[in-house]
Amino acid sequence: MKLIYTHANNLIVLNAKNIVEASSIKVFLKNEFSSAGVGELPPIDNWLELWVVEDLHYERAQKLLAVFNSKELADWQCVKCAEINGAAFDYCWNCTTSSHYCDL
Ligand SMILES: [Zn+2]
Repeated sequence: MKLIYTHANNLIVLNAKNIVEASSIKVFLKNEFSSAGVGELPPIDNWLELWVVEDLHYERAQKLLAVFNSKELADWQCVKCAEINGAAFDYCWNCTTSSHYCDL
């Protein structure tokens, strides 16, 4: 068993899990039930962790997540006003629409 991904935001870890599972790789979550209060970030040792069950799937899972991560860092186009925004921005600088508007 190997740890392949962790993040302070549970939704991002769950998204990563879906991507890896879609390729028939067995994974499981750790720290699934250690939640911080609403609006608080959990301390790093309580972050939700994504593990692969079989070590031989580790490299393939990492490649899948590398693609996932590069998408996360790509510029995005606002669904409302079509403005192109940098990856670092969570909201459109032009009309303040969330970049995750159509992701969830
Ligand atoms: Zn916009």
